[in-house]
Amino acid sequence: MTVAWIGLGNMGGPMAANLVAAGHEVRGFDLSEHATELARAAGVTIVGSAVQAVAGADVVFTMLPAGSHVRALLTDEALLAALPANTLVIDSSTIEIDTARELHQLIPAAGHRFLDAPVSGGTFGAASGTLTFMVGGSAADLEEAKPYTDVMAGRVFHTGGPGNGQAAKIANNMMLGINLAATCEAAILAERLGLDAKTFYNLAMVSSGDSWALRTWYPVPGVVETAAVNRDFEGGFATNLMLKDLGLALQAGESTGTNLDFAAAVVERLTALAARGYGAKDCTSLVRLLDGSLDG
Ligand code: NAD
Repeated sequence: MTVAWIGLGNMGGPMAANLVAAGHEVRGFDLSEHATELARAAGVTIVGSAVQAVAGADVVFTMLPAGSHVRALLTDEALLAALPANTLVIDSSTIEIDTARELHQLIPAAGHRFLDAPVSGGTFGAASGTLTFMVGGSAADLEEAKPYTDVMAGRVFHTGGPGNGQAAKIANNMMLGINLAATCEAAILAERLGLDAKTFYNLAMVSSGDSWALRTWYPVPGVVETAAVNRDFEGGFATNLMLKDLGLALQAGESTGTNLDFAAAVVERLTALAARGYGAKDCTSLVRLLDGSLDG
């Protein structure tokens, strides 16, 4: 099948590469030369525009930074006109629930179909094809998406109607943000109490302190391969993206009258971290703010 893929960054690049490995022809587009070079090396056919990517495609995926990018791209008249009639468009970016719901109206109005299908599992999950998909939209459209999502995911959940994929993602990532802060504070405390980092990590993983943030992102060098602390916080999940997700959670909290004090506290710390130049670095660099390394 011919898959159009727009947004070949830290997540989209390896996800598209897995579709190539599964035998699909993937036509990709990204504004970044670095991202397109990596994707080309993984077998993605790089084209010069999003319109070129989608022309004649069987399915379209978008994996872009935020709702504004997704909305601008998927409401572009030239792009919608280039799509074969009734094409399934799947957005896997993390965006506002309201923007996703708007696209569920606008894209069918242009004669196509839409799923909001954000993912969890980080860049490691993207590379290893073990992401979790949370999908909002029709069950029949999800059935059609399955041959593609199954290649990229360990699990695919249908979480309900339009926007419910994003709703699940936002609630999930709010827990991730709070667990990240807890993991950073615990790592600092454990070290200052004289505990061996690897031993503490191994025991916490099988104890009540366990979380995905702990297992995958433990912010002490040399403890777990997948942690960005081993690569000077390059790649991974940017502080700015985590801030975006927690901002979406606070927005959802406001619209539902839900008190989210802990998420708000993490937003405050991550905002301070970004102000110190760590916005594009992996969000586990929060450990450096919390341990005082960035003071003075
Ligand atoms: P990224 O910044 O690495 O990649 C986004 C890519 O989109 C960039 O390469 C950028 O050049 C490209 N882009 C922006 N506007 C474009 C346009 N108009 N046309 C074509 N390309 C365009 O971000 P990422 O880490 O890959 O995240 C992508 C999405 O996935 C975000 O919504 C993020 O919240 C979500 N997400 C990220 C992770 C993670 O661990 N990084 C995990 C789950 C979900």
